[in-house]
Amino acid sequence: MINLVLFGPPGAGKGTQADVLSKDYHLIHISTGDILREEIAASTPIGLAVKDIICKGELVPDNMVIELIRERIDKNPEANGFLFDGFPRTVPQADALDKLLVQFGRRVSAMLSLEVEVEELISRLLNRGTTSGRSDDADRAVIENRIHVYNEKTQPLIQYYKEAGKYHAINGMGGIDDITHRLKNCIDQLI
Ligand code: ADP
Repeated sequence: MINLVLFGPPGAGKGTQADVLSKDYHLIHISTGDILREEIAASTPIGLAVKDIICKGELVPDNMVIELIRERIDKNPEANGFLFDGFPRTVPQADALDKLLVQFGRRVSAMLSLEVEVEELISRLLNRGTTSGRSDDADRAVIENRIHVYNEKTQPLIQYYKEAGKYHAINGMGGIDDITHRLKNCIDQLI
């Protein structure tokens, strides 16, 4: 059983890599961004509450995303493990994840941090914005705000997981397959 946090700034390639890794290691892929976008598309009360926040590139309140994660873990008692993508994004979310996993007899095995230069992030996101239909990818100011929010609120998690002895830096520059290879090398050493 292995539970991984795939970490990195917006545009680091978490979603792309999580799709491959979750299949290859038989992990349940939990992307808070995807879940929130599904809620918006279905116009649920949560979707209506978060729509403007996401459009502006701000973070959704911790209690909302924590509850969504709790539901997903609870629904999958037989899971071989989970791959968290875009979560945790704040220190309170990381604390909550640790506590939740303990309740289910699990723990975070490792945090894999995709490291990408900021200019590359912006160019990837603007490029994705031409096809993704995501308004938060189409506007340079929103992208820059997301990176700012990442630096302020999310980056401290690097220290959090370093102190827990779970932080693994992965070079996120280059081709998709090369990056997958680096991630798999790291995971294979963990299992
Ligand atoms: P990216 O990594 O490209 O920013 P995501 O799909 O992970 O894209 O997230 C899109 C948006 O959804 C974020 O900008 C934020 O508004 C919201 N979001 C996703 N995950 C979280 C989270 N764990 N906590 C708070 N907000 C979140």
